[in-house]
Amino acid sequence: MTRDPAWLTEGLDDLKREHLLRPRRVVESLGPGHSRVDGQELVDFSSNDYLGLARDPRLAQAAAAAPVGAGASPLVSGRSPQYCRLEESLARFEKTEAVLLFPSGFAANLGTITALMGPDDAVFSDQRNHASLIDGCRLCRARLHIYHHQSLDRLRRQLAEAADARRRLIITDGLFSMDGTIAPLVQLADLAVEFDAMLLVDEAHATGVLGPSGRGSCERLEIEQRVTLRIGTLSKAVGAAGGFVAGSRALIDHLWHHARTQVFSTALPPATCAAAELGLQLIDREPNRRDHLEQLGNRLRQHLAGLGLETHSEDGPIVPVILGSAAAAVEASSLLAQHGHFVPAIRPPSVAAGTARLRISLSAAHSDHNIDRLAEALTLVAAGEVTAHE
Ligand SMILES: *Cc1c(COP(=O)(O)O)cnc(C)c1O
Repeated sequence: MTRDPAWLTEGLDDLKREHLLRPRRVVESLGPGHSRVDGQELVDFSSNDYLGLARDPRLAQAAAAAPVGAGASPLVSGRSPQYCRLEESLARFEKTEAVLLFPSGFAANLGTITALMGPDDAVFSDQRNHASLIDGCRLCRARLHIYHHQSLDRLRRQLAEAADARRRLIITDGLFSMDGTIAPLVQLADLAVEFDAMLLVDEAHATGVLGPSGRGSCERLEIEQRVTLRIGTLSKAVGAAGGFVAGSRALIDHLWHHARTQVFSTALPPATCAAAELGLQLIDREPNRRDHLEQLGNRLRQHLAGLGLETHSEDGPIVPVILGSAAAAVEASSLLAQHGHFVPAIRPPSVAAGTARLRISLSAAHSDHNIDRLAEALTLVAAGEVTAHE
């Protein structure tokens, strides 16, 4: 073995000193909502399995009945019957003309933004957008305007400055993954019309969760008809894996030819498509999962308000508890683990320095009792037993 260069080991030492080393945990499913984490049985508040479908045996059965390998890119020979059925079901579910599948949500964002935008164009991106949207913006080489989280005044000025660009694209998360806040989509759609821009909404955390039918934040705010394209993932509430774009027939045809992350990557496995298709059907057939999840969120937010813990999220299954320093967040997370709860600490660079937090992700697999027990454990965090060490 060659000797590691000094910068490599120094960089890791820096991470350790700043409480930013990421553990490689082994997380084993003990059924919906519960996991064995490095050997310890915990109620799992870490996962994006919002509806408790990822570990549903029915999805495993659906996957087991289909081939595993797709063999090639969709453009070559990877479009299996399961793949085609999933595209059709998704288009029906999303109520759009067409849908295109990608190997992951990350790939969907990267491939879509780079296929739509180029050096003569301007993109407008919320500062707290997901990393895959940020990387898509960088890779497409359009002029990049970053606006402060939900700052519409700033965005309006930037749009006015970019009047000479060939194309304009406003990009936002629907439900922000670190904050649990919903984007001001009505105002964004108004700005898009006013400045002749396209609007892209990433529904990764909202598909299956928000809106009367579970189509996401755009359905919730009744602006689906005013959005150019919606991007979603099959890896969160749907319980499987893969990404998709929903939009007009022409848009999907364009992406089919130009989105490099699906042109040059092997298609989603038929087994994954079969599981995702069943996940979608269950979102339709079992709306009580969505209702229960919403009630759990309300219950937890009430507890937090009672404890005086700061959370900015008003809605949805993501409930952050902002603590400040990375060390405080790590310590709070291990305190909760001692009491039987797996709640990850979210630290820079996932969030801005000084805003490290616990992120509680709720799932329909949780019970009221799980929430009340978690709130009890959080009283220790609220009592300052954690931040006192700072
Ligand atoms: C998780 C996530 C993605 C990526 O989806 P994957 O299917 O996990 O690759 C994209 N955007 C947002 C906002 C996400 O939270």
